[in-house]
Amino acid sequence: MTEIYTDSDTERAQLSNKTVAVLGYGSQGHAHAQNLDDSGIDVVVGLRPGSRSREHAQDDGLRVATPSEAAAEADIVVMLIPDTVQPSVYETIASELDPGDTLQFAHGFNIHYGQIEPPEDVDVTMVAPKGPGHLVRRTYERGEGTPGLFAVYQDATGEASSEALAYAGAIGCTRAGVIETTFREETETDLFGEQAVLCGGVTDLIKAGYETLVDAGYSSEMAYFECLNELKLIVDLLYEGGHTEMWNSVSDTAEYGGLTRGEDVVDREAMEAILDGVQSGEFAREWIAENQASRPAYRQHRRAEQNHEIEEVGDRLRELFAWSEQAEPAPADD
Ligand code: NDP
Ligand code: MG
Ligand code: MG
Repeated sequence: MTEIYTDSDTERAQLSNKTVAVLGYGSQGHAHAQNLDDSGIDVVVGLRPGSRSREHAQDDGLRVATPSEAAAEADIVVMLIPDTVQPSVYETIASELDPGDTLQFAHGFNIHYGQIEPPEDVDVTMVAPKGPGHLVRRTYERGEGTPGLFAVYQDATGEASSEALAYAGAIGCTRAGVIETTFREETETDLFGEQAVLCGGVTDLIKAGYETLVDAGYSSEMAYFECLNELKLIVDLLYEGGHTEMWNSVSDTAEYGGLTRGEDVVDREAMEAILDGVQSGEFAREWIAENQASRPAYRQHRRAEQNHEIEEVGDRLRELFAWSEQAEPAPADD
């Protein structure tokens, strides 16, 4: 079993004389910067001139500078801007990294696929909460924490690992628990998960189920409820109590039918091909090229998804559930 690190494993004093530059003030950035600040760590937020985030950071009482100014005074530079812009912003701050400084990430893509190549005399680490920024901030304010990961890619000082744990402590993650991973494992499992299961797999499963029912003459409203709306109830059960609790909560008919038929819809070879594309770097090369070409395929896929019939049916039916949004307001920052 992987070891789980908690507060008692961290040396918080390790950050007491250090300045942290948080580059970006979006989902992760606002949460890391405010939690560090509340933990008594010296923080400066690095934002480009004219940044729309500047006012938010200043309103939250934080010091703001440009990314290169922030990196110049910092001992730890944390890359919390979108992954696709990190390589170009890195170019503007690279000369500010002094020997013994730390370059820290919350996702391994740019290091693992060689889009950022830091000098050998800096520590390169990752601290990644397993949750969106608003949760990282909200749990911290309640005295709790979001579980997270840490990893060391390059340890120039011999202290990379304990410093990353101290940082995970300062943003609240070790209150819940932190596990050690590698840049490779985090990057490849993250990409595989979002492509095959979480984002790609699930939406395609929903669309295929919906289309199968509608093409067979069933009403689009019934198909929507069956294939999309009820998914939340099932996922909540899985999240709370695993497969056993979910199977216990549905009818025996659902359990028998699901257990005997479910595997027919999953193509394991296709999943392995997706993992191959992640491991070989083929997906990364495709996505980097797509960005360099201003995302033509991305825009096309996005448009097709937005124009799918299930979206129009869903917009209409979700109004029947307006009460559910009042019960738990969706945070605007993610
Ligand atoms: P966001 O998209 O929320 O970052 C937005 C911030 O980046 C804004 O402050 C924006 O400032 C700034 N920014 C955008 N473009 C540029 C640019 N060209 N130059 C300078 N600043 C720019 O990022 P996330 O928080 O979602 O992701 C940050 C990192 O955390 C990524 O590596 C991601 O993979 C990782 N991560 C994200 C999680 C999440 O839940 N979102 C979970 C775990 C890890 P401006 O106002 O100037 O546009
Ligand atoms: Mg420095
Ligand atoms: Mg992901």
